Amino acid sequence: MSDLVIVGGGAAGMMAAIFAAGRIGDGSRVTLLEKNDRLGRKIYLTGKGRCNITNMRSWNEFSRHIHPDSKFFKPAFKCFSNEDVRSFFEESGVPVTEEQGRRLFPVSMKASDVAQALERKVRESGVKILYNTVWNPSLSYGALVVATGGRSYPVTGSTGDGYDIARSFGHTVARVFPSLTALMPSDYRCPGTVHLKNVALTLYVGRDLVQREEGEMSFTNDGIEGALGFRVSRRAVWALENGQKVTLSLDLKPALSQQQINARIAREIENDASLSSVPKLLRRLLPAELVQPFMEAHKGLDINMIPDALKDWRFLIISCKGYERAVVTAGGVSLKEINPKTMGSLVHPGLFFAGEVLDLDGDTGGYNLQVAFSTGALAGISAADYLMST
Ligand SMILES: Cc1cc2nc3c(=O)[nH]c(=O)nc-3n(C[C@H](O)[C@H](O)[C@H](O)COP(=O)(O)OP(=O)(O)OC[C@H]3O[C@@H](n4cnc5c(N)ncnc54)[C@H](O)[C@@H]3O)c2cc1C
Repeated sequence: MSDLVIVGGGAAGMMAAIFAAGRIGDGSRVTLLEKNDRLGRKIYLTGKGRCNITNMRSWNEFSRHIHPDSKFFKPAFKCFSNEDVRSFFEESGVPVTEEQGRRLFPVSMKASDVAQALERKVRESGVKILYNTVWNPSLSYGALVVATGGRSYPVTGSTGDGYDIARSFGHTVARVFPSLTALMPSDYRCPGTVHLKNVALTLYVGRDLVQREEGEMSFTNDGIEGALGFRVSRRAVWALENGQKVTLSLDLKPALSQQQINARIAREIENDASLSSVPKLLRRLLPAELVQPFMEAHKGLDINMIPDALKDWRFLIISCKGYERAVVTAGGVSLKEINPKTMGSLVHPGLFFAGEVLDLDGDTGGYNLQVAFSTGALAGISAADYLMST
């Protein structure tokens, strides 16, 4: 009797194994191959060690955070939704809590609890786990699920192997590129790590305004990142890879117009004449670490120019932090060759795909793990049905 073989023991592969074992009613017919000596290494790093398990937004809102084709993801989401993920972890002994932006975390704030609960479920379902084992084409199988992840954080085992596996079965792989990653401006002098709240970031490609986001961002050694930096990074990196000019405009006072900033400056100077010195005034308006880089970026700055400069600090982006620090890999196995209702290959019967290896990725906020869990569950169920029907 042939086995159902799952390649890759990350979030998607473990979920596929649990659902396949449940569907077949006999976990010993499912084998999970993992190249590392433990399962779910990446999960331990998620959400800065706290694991943002999913996002509780309704499908209409959720779908706006899925790229490049949220319609493809809908059947998988319906099969195992964010509500289902919440119940799954609660029933697996991981109480969860919702934070700002409808992001779901374990109450313990420990990603290890999430990874270990998944591993425990895989073991309890009787699935055979082969550690330190990579896929090799001579292995026999009745159905095959490829859940090898993308290319980001290769130290965790995600080194893009699934793209070659997909190609070996005749699949097309859409160009892959790092996403949710830091963007490096030209002539960047890192002001140390500075977190900014209530700012706006606008992305220009060539002369076109392509995205504007408000919220939090950070300057770090790696460049511009944080929630806003990550949100614009997908389109920015794609444009860079296509040789286009990428510019970011940082609005440090999105709630105020130029006139309002002018009025505030006039008030400040009226109360304290020493503030007519530009650096002193800037210290009132900006985090101290930003004053010097702001002045260097705006040579010859006088008081009248400050409102415009605060509303439009320009950065020419020249590169991004690569896969070693990107949260997710965009691109992957082409969705045109996958049945969205089963995650099954339209090219090779008995072959299924799940997780980041697909040309499917999400914004920050719990969307990527939900993609892995939903596509994993659907691929596991469909592969089990295929196995039992042959
Ligand atoms: C630092 C960081 C923080 C993140 N935080 C969050 C977060 O808080 N919330 C969120 O939603 N998403 C987050 N993500 C993204 C999310 O973790 C991934 O999108 C998700 O884990 C992808 O799951 P996957 O199972 O598809 O792939 P992976 O987790 O990459 O798992 C693939 C597995 O396959 C194995 N493998 C690879 N090749 C082979 C082979 N040839 N043979 C056998 N095994 C193989 C790998 O060793 C690995 O264990 C984060 C990512 C990073 C890097």
